[in-house]
Amino acid sequence: MTETVRALIGRLEVGDTLTEADFRQLLDGSDGSSDALLREKAVAKRKAVYGNSVFVRGLIEISSYCKNDCLYCGIRRSNANAQRYRLTEEQILSCADEGYALGFRTFVLQGGEDAYFTDERLVPLLRELKRRHPDCAVTLSLGERGKESFQRLYDAGADRYLLRHETADAAHYASLHPPELRWENRMECLRQLREIGYAVGAGFMVGSPGQTNAHLAKDLCFIQEFQPEMCGIGPFIPHQDTPFARESAGSAEVTCRLLSVIRLIQPNILLPATTALGTVHPQGREMGILAGANVVMPNLSPTDVRKKYSLYDNKICTGEESAQCKDCLQTRMRAIGYEVVVDRGDPMPHGASAASQSEVVSRKSEVDVARCLSSVPIRNSE
Ligand code: SAH
Repeated sequence: MTETVRALIGRLEVGDTLTEADFRQLLDGSDGSSDALLREKAVAKRKAVYGNSVFVRGLIEISSYCKNDCLYCGIRRSNANAQRYRLTEEQILSCADEGYALGFRTFVLQGGEDAYFTDERLVPLLRELKRRHPDCAVTLSLGERGKESFQRLYDAGADRYLLRHETADAAHYASLHPPELRWENRMECLRQLREIGYAVGAGFMVGSPGQTNAHLAKDLCFIQEFQPEMCGIGPFIPHQDTPFARESAGSAEVTCRLLSVIRLIQPNILLPATTALGTVHPQGREMGILAGANVVMPNLSPTDVRKKYSLYDNKICTGEESAQCKDCLQTRMRAIGYEVVVDRGDPMPHGASAASQSEVVSRKSEVDVARCLSSVPIRNSE
């Protein structure tokens, strides 16, 4: 590791603001030894804020219909091979009920931009979800909507909104999306969500086609400036029925490096070790936690629709029941010294240092972990 890289990591550790050029230098100069140092510093920061707790979010994939045509995504509207489904209100509520019994206290409703899910349908659904589970947080991840809609959903009980910015570079954004999707609008949505009062999640794919360290440096600057409460990052993985079918996947290594840097930029951030990271490497989610992540998002969707929510190829955890996914992750986290907790897992205020006091999940795991561990790493760009 060069002295320059060591010095940049030192500056991140003490909370200095880095420039785009600094981040670029850090990424360009990274190697195995600097990654190890980043991990060590990131884990120390995460422990100071969140202890050894890992928060779980129950992911409910409510619809695979999408009006958008993002070039990377398997459920893009022009993919005629995509299998479309939409959960009923009753199905969504029963996924949440099942999740609640398993110890989940945050539900993430994610889906394509499906015109069926109007405010008129979502508002009563959110109200009912909150009536049944008033001690739970509800996160939406339903793409771009108008400010009025964001406000109505917030008033109906939604607490958080995940909307990855995908890339902080407008030209790069344009190369990943059709012209009708505008980078400026994405950014405007993030600002509106923040203004309304949501806990906001930004994020991006690592190794998306055309991405360079210069783009990633912009992403890091954006995170540093916008300070989202959450940041979802995972490797890009090609989907066979998209224009990017022949592109290579992003690497687990670079994803983990970025998780560490983001943890250092913002020690209290909520940072998931994503399913995509677990898909490119059999121990990807463990690696993510050990690099500074503190959230995992097991799937609560009904098993018969899971394969249909296919954003990328070879997605893991599409065969298991919710309880199995939960137990599997719990076993995996315990094996590396972390505890999955029953907790809403709200963002800690800046500068907070008390570890979460939550009740620790004590359910004994009976799941066959080997089945989860058997996923094969897919081709890698490195
Ligand atoms: N429609 C919602 C939810 C999108 S799915 C929205 O627009 O926000 C959630 C995330 O999955 C996306 O933001 C994108 O970053 C990621 N994703 C989509 N296709 C992917 C792929 N091929 N590889 C890896 N991640 C992908």
